Amino acid sequence: MISVIDAKKAIIDNVTILSTENIMIEKAYGYVIADDIYSPLALPPFNQSAMDGYAFIYDDLKNKLPIKVVAEVAAGDLYNEPLKSGQAVRIFTGAPVPLNADCIVMQEKVIVENNNLHITDSALILNSNIRPKGSQIEKGELALPKGTKMTAAAIGFIAGMGIAAVNVVRKPKVRVIVTGNELQKPGNILNGAQIFESNSYSISAALYSMDLSTETIQSVSDNENEVYEIIAQSIETCDVLLLSGGISVGDYDFVERGLKKTDVQTIFYKVKQKPGKPLFFGKHKNTFVFALPGNPAAVLSCFYNYVYPALRKMQGFPNCFLKSVKLPIATDYQKKSGLANFLNAKMNNTNIYPLEGQASFQLRSYALADSIIYLPEESEMIKAGDIVEAFLLPK
Ligand code: AMP
Ligand code: MG
Repeated sequence: MISVIDAKKAIIDNVTILSTENIMIEKAYGYVIADDIYSPLALPPFNQSAMDGYAFIYDDLKNKLPIKVVAEVAAGDLYNEPLKSGQAVRIFTGAPVPLNADCIVMQEKVIVENNNLHITDSALILNSNIRPKGSQIEKGELALPKGTKMTAAAIGFIAGMGIAAVNVVRKPKVRVIVTGNELQKPGNILNGAQIFESNSYSISAALYSMDLSTETIQSVSDNENEVYEIIAQSIETCDVLLLSGGISVGDYDFVERGLKKTDVQTIFYKVKQKPGKPLFFGKHKNTFVFALPGNPAAVLSCFYNYVYPALRKMQGFPNCFLKSVKLPIATDYQKKSGLANFLNAKMNNTNIYPLEGQASFQLRSYALADSIIYLPEESEMIKAGDIVEAFLLPK
């Protein structure tokens, strides 16, 4: 049995980043870029008008020269003539600023009569309302470092540089196996001894919140050979195999034996924590296996503490664990020393409070939680007002 800290370290030490692939940017949402991206051009690519207005030579305004509007430049138009003293062009947002023009006045601050431009803006300075070429990024400059998640903004930024495809880290293929004779799929009718299977649903949703999908979900009864067979069939074709149930010490818990028979090398089995003590983590060739306990709250607690960082590491994220905060706890909490505790909790502006119903079979409190309080192994009596560490659950 190992400590929470050692178990988390074992995850990071063993899991490695997956291979990379080149994909079109429209498909890249949620991926992590595998290489630094340098800008192939300056942005904006030319001096650009930031306003609908008039472009002119600033010295003409300073010297109080008469200025005449001689042409019009809309976005997408090119005005090739260098501007001469005493000339202005009508210009629109996004249009290239003509050569020699070094000031733009917005259209609300002028009077134009017979093409004569009268400027009423007294706050203009050199280069007013001009977005200089390269002011966002210069050609060859680092645009996004590797490890950046492809968000809406990142994809738009890359598109704006004219880049159509990017090298990203491949997403992990995750298979899920739930074990238990008592499990019935929601939508069916329960006999007196059954319960509805919920772990595959919460696991799939947790994966979905990480922009990952579940390759397959399979169900198996508590039969030693069937458990072995299904592990053996699945393990060769995924990056991560998640099992739920059957990993404890009951007479019908066959997952550990099934994993041994499939030559899964144990990295750790059993963690000094509540919930989720019987958690198993192992490896077979390039596939990582988590055997999660069956109790629904333990499944999620183990997912967020161990599976989540493993999946993040595989995907190339620089920060793998859930974000943590330190806040005063709102109520006293008594625990036994020897096991770390994870408590479903909710935060407000000033403190964090554990929710009612912390047993590992109870998901109700988890469904209302926004965070998990982590109480270390050795702690016993936690007093209201003590500072505790908590992990923020993905929204
Ligand atoms: P086990 O770890 O297999 O002993 O299961 C522990 C508890 O979790 C038992 O009460 C099971 O009925 C329950 N359980 C196991 N698997 C699931 C599941 N997929 N969905 C909901 N409850 C489950
Ligand atoms: Mg079971």
